[in-house]
Amino acid sequence: MPDSLDQQARRHLWGHFTRLAGVQRDGMPVIERGEGAYVYDTTGKRYLDGLSGLFTVNVGHGRRELADAAAVQTERLSYFPLWSYGTPPAIELAARLAALAPGDLNRVFFTTGGGEAVESAWKLAMQYFAAIGQPQRRKVISRDYAYHGTSLGALSITGIPAIREPFEPLLPTAVKIRNTNRYRCTSCAHAPACTLDCADDLERRIIAEGPETVALVVMEPVQNTGGALVPPHGYFARVREICDKYGVLLVSDEVICAFGRLGHMFGCDRFGYRPDMITFAKGVTSGYSALGGVIVSDRIASPFVEDAGRTYLHGSTFGGHPVGCAVALANLDVMEREDICGNVLRHEPLFDDVMASLAELPIVGDVRGCGYFRVAELVRDKETKETFSDEESEWLLRGVLSPVLHEAG
Ligand code: PMP
Repeated sequence: MPDSLDQQARRHLWGHFTRLAGVQRDGMPVIERGEGAYVYDTTGKRYLDGLSGLFTVNVGHGRRELADAAAVQTERLSYFPLWSYGTPPAIELAARLAALAPGDLNRVFFTTGGGEAVESAWKLAMQYFAAIGQPQRRKVISRDYAYHGTSLGALSITGIPAIREPFEPLLPTAVKIRNTNRYRCTSCAHAPACTLDCADDLERRIIAEGPETVALVVMEPVQNTGGALVPPHGYFARVREICDKYGVLLVSDEVICAFGRLGHMFGCDRFGYRPDMITFAKGVTSGYSALGGVIVSDRIASPFVEDAGRTYLHGSTFGGHPVGCAVALANLDVMEREDICGNVLRHEPLFDDVMASLAELPIVGDVRGCGYFRVAELVRDKETKETFSDEESEWLLRGVLSPVLHEAG
């Protein structure tokens, strides 16, 4: 008799960002099936998948059509690399993403996930600037607390101290600026309107670093970590203006915000800005297969198109896997046919009302977000916005809320 799943999990599985000791002691929930907005564990208990897996399953669980697309492609051609070769699904998906993306973002470099996409954008920017005679432009600017991935390159761009600290020193060419937290903004939270000082922080940083050394800025349309930080009105117009003024590329990290999360195919469409590159992953396949990538403007691609001897020196075995690309095409069919983006926008007023009712609870300091990307920030004191100590957070999140929410499904 093999050990039970529970015993095998306790003994052998190393969960991501998971405390092994807790798993060893208590086991872990084992999710075995999904249907629509719900998943089921091995005891048959049903849970509302509020986080959509990890902001990923945008068209919902259990779609036969997506499984079929994977099966058909697996049988026809299960694998071939994109190293000097194309495959029909990778080519068709690149063309389709180019058509959906704004402006002249017409060239797609595929990866297997989001962090790799972000790191690919950084490396591409470095090679681009070397190609146009500005090899000293190597720095990347991102925002405090932003999550952009965990490999050492992407982690350098990530701004969360707690997950960076064990691996420091990280790349010194990755620097941070302020994020856009209106609720806790030190310069204008108490002012009647936002002063866009958060955007001006970008200009200050570019000048301090030396504009000729800065290659790119990486930002999410709505920043996840810190809690669905929606940019103030005019923020991205100002950021774009600053990037143009100093010749810096703007990368929109849309690993979460694309493919309907904000009610548009791309988050930059919601806020009306034009990035030089878009990084994506997650919702491109709704998680039915692992895929990510970078959509690149013609301008950035041009030195590689025009010089017969130049190659972007980057790649991976599974980047742009044909099964992932076939699944993504089927996923986009579903999104368009069922008007997933329109559905998100139509439900926004309802979602706003639900969040507003949560805001009345004594423990909720702020509610924010847009589309299907919302947060309730819990505070110790609503008046002073005082937050919880580490021990209190531990007690509240792990001791109280997680078990209660888990129990409630
Ligand atoms: N960028 C953003 C904005 C993300 O949210 C994430 C993942 N949550 C990543 C990058 C990294 O993606 P992955 O986990 O696929 O490497």
